[in-house]
Amino acid sequence: MKVQLADSVAMDKQYCWHPFTRQGEWTAEGHDPLMLVKGEGVWLEDAEGNRYIDGNASIWTNIHGHAHPRLNEAIKEQLDKVAHTSFLGYSHPLAAELAKKLAGFFPYTSLQRTFFSDDGSTAIECALKMAIQYRLQSGEPERTEFVAFVDCYHGDTMGAASLGGVDAFFSRFRKFGFPVRFVSSVTELKELDGLDRVAGVVIEPLVQGVNQIHVWPDGMLAELREFTEQQGVHLILDEVMTGFGRTGAMFACQREKVIPDFLCLAKGLTGGYLPMAATMVREEIYEAFLGGAENAFYYGHSYTANPLGCAAALANLQIFEEEKTLEGLKEKSAYLKKGLDALSAQFPEVWQLRQCGMVAGIELRDADGVSFDRSMRVGERVCLAARKWGLLTRPVLDTIVFLPPLSISFEEIDQSLDAIAQSITEILGD
Ligand code: PLP
Repeated sequence: MKVQLADSVAMDKQYCWHPFTRQGEWTAEGHDPLMLVKGEGVWLEDAEGNRYIDGNASIWTNIHGHAHPRLNEAIKEQLDKVAHTSFLGYSHPLAAELAKKLAGFFPYTSLQRTFFSDDGSTAIECALKMAIQYRLQSGEPERTEFVAFVDCYHGDTMGAASLGGVDAFFSRFRKFGFPVRFVSSVTELKELDGLDRVAGVVIEPLVQGVNQIHVWPDGMLAELREFTEQQGVHLILDEVMTGFGRTGAMFACQREKVIPDFLCLAKGLTGGYLPMAATMVREEIYEAFLGGAENAFYYGHSYTANPLGCAAALANLQIFEEEKTLEGLKEKSAYLKKGLDALSAQFPEVWQLRQCGMVAGIELRDADGVSFDRSMRVGERVCLAARKWGLLTRPVLDTIVFLPPLSISFEEIDQSLDAIAQSITEILGD
């Protein structure tokens, strides 16, 4: 290890605290954190010059690859003008243009209004607060509850965490958040009593990411929309992961021709370059916030609508057009499916494949279909082994998540699946 790298590792271990990380293991002697220093296309390079395919798109953010010339140029161009100005009391042209472009994906008078924030959690946080305040200002103060789906994940700020269905992450904090009722299907939702107390239902459309890539049945979203509409309950869609082409359409909701009341976007909004989020809202909801000071939405963050983020987001959308990103996805995800099927045929331990567009989960169990003991940490070990074969990704429990930048080539898909196959052989071979 070069001296500089050793210094960086030592500083990290002494001063940094990583997300979702067992810090004791991270800082233990013998653990050498991977220091990533460069990226190009779907490839990332570590401090020692080793190259890896970014198999989880840098935690589900990257869309068109790293160091994309158009994105780099757009950010640099804006940087030479100004890096940040406040959106509180002022505006700037890029935010206005971006809000208009986002509205353009939906029919006029539907999702026409965008509130910018910083990340997936704040996009959700913002929708929740808007949903509650809307009810207070629309003569329905009794609608104070939310319904979410079992094992869902919508972020880590306290409001978003209140919706969180994963006990390991959220059980400690439940008593500090607001009560949420959880259902596992639209049928269960229909059976709930007290729906007249519900302000909104929150769901990740088509596929839940953190819930080990759980794919919802076809038609479920459209049924949910129909039912929530009948009940006067707002539909809040979390497209933080599914947005920007991941499922094959620009937004997952478009695949079932659903228009929600709130649409939350983040991760891929800037092509995975900068932290930025958007909460898009139906115009009639927005209208309840007009009028006097008592109706205003008192919410915001210092970096709301950051100009560099807006420049990246506009470039991201432009690349979708120029490179016809969506047009290639059907063929690419079919190719991925073929590769996954071959993996499944090769290994009895591939218990189930779950795929929605370019989002894939490979669940590993023992050859009899029994889940591995958690203490074996099979998913983690397989992903760690994959590094040797030039692939970076993370599991959720024993589900290997493969969610690459959409720009990945057929050859790079093959390389990624080969790396997973080699790693399964290494970890579960005998
Ligand atoms: N919603 C979903 C569906 C997510 O997958 C995530 C993050 O993985 C979030 C919300 C939270 O986003 P962030 O980590 O940007 O706060």
